[in-house]
Amino acid sequence: MSKPPDVVRPEPASGKRKPEDYQFLKAIGEGSFSTVYLCREVVGRRFLAVKVCRKKLIIKEKKVDYVKREKQAYQILDSQWKETCPFFVKLACSFQDVSCLYYVLTLADKGDLLLYLNTNGAMDLPCASFYTGELVHALEHMHGLGIIHRDVKPENILLNSAMHIRISDFGSSKILRGPFAPPSENTESNEGSGDGSAASHKRRMSFVGTAQYVSPEILNNWPSTPAADLWALGVVTFQMLANRPPFQAQASYTIFQKILKLEYKFPENFPETAQDLIKKLLVIEPIERLGARDIKVYSSLKAHEFFAGLDFETLYKTTPPDPA
Ligand code: ATP
Repeated sequence: MSKPPDVVRPEPASGKRKPEDYQFLKAIGEGSFSTVYLCREVVGRRFLAVKVCRKKLIIKEKKVDYVKREKQAYQILDSQWKETCPFFVKLACSFQDVSCLYYVLTLADKGDLLLYLNTNGAMDLPCASFYTGELVHALEHMHGLGIIHRDVKPENILLNSAMHIRISDFGSSKILRGPFAPPSENTESNEGSGDGSAASHKRRMSFVGTAQYVSPEILNNWPSTPAADLWALGVVTFQMLANRPPFQAQASYTIFQKILKLEYKFPENFPETAQDLIKKLLVIEPIERLGARDIKVYSSLKAHEFFAGLDFETLYKTTPPDPA
């Protein structure tokens, strides 16, 4: 069988890469402390995405842990790569010079899910079922490896040339205790104690992210569990079918209030099976979300009628449905 186009060769044993190994063609994305460029390898001639993170800004914005965690998550995913679940951007290699860190990533050149929705409008049921199915399969794999993404949203769900999802931006991720966890996260933490202390208040106030996708546990200052990504799965599934997220308001504060009160409405003609799935994911108590009690495999989630007829193991080589 031929290899998927974005499988990358490992970093060469013959020493570190350097910026001169790539032609920087154009900027394709901007983050808060990084710019992502479309690049071409000088020797291999492959097109790749290179995320250039400015060290000064990382330090100024206190994002050192963020960049470290992103690399670590990519390394874990790479070391446990599963052919039937290639739904992640891959870190081909990383290097640095005096001023910048360079993350060389496989290219997802069809934009992100938000652009897809803005261009094509809301998805129909088969299309939403397909893309939600890829997302469920990806979350199952990632959670099995102890990685909680914590920033699942359409802008971080990229699409490759074959229109399959490639999840990116693991900077907000949490790596659970286990063989892969960094020592600092292997110790007890009072994260999410919700104790009303100054530290607890500071944590809540230091929240960064996109308000519409925040889980109630972040707002309540409860510990993060993989169920936070199941909440986001519910939000993203709603958005695929409605072309808008369920919780909307001008001010972030009002969005947070709506999230905590579960105040959202389905548009007319919203498919019943999707309504049922979303209601079972958008649940305040993390452990009560569909799939949260599953062990290793999201069997209860995958068995939902919304995914009827979907073969999760072969999704990666199935031609995605055309937009509605
Ligand atoms: P933020 O500050 O929003 O967290 P960030 O600094 O973590 O952003 P990314 O989200 O990783 O940066 O990347 C910024 C943008 O660059 C993305 O929204 C996307 O448009 C583009 N991009 C990132 N990685 C890739 C890739 N592998 N292929 C194609 N485009 C990419």
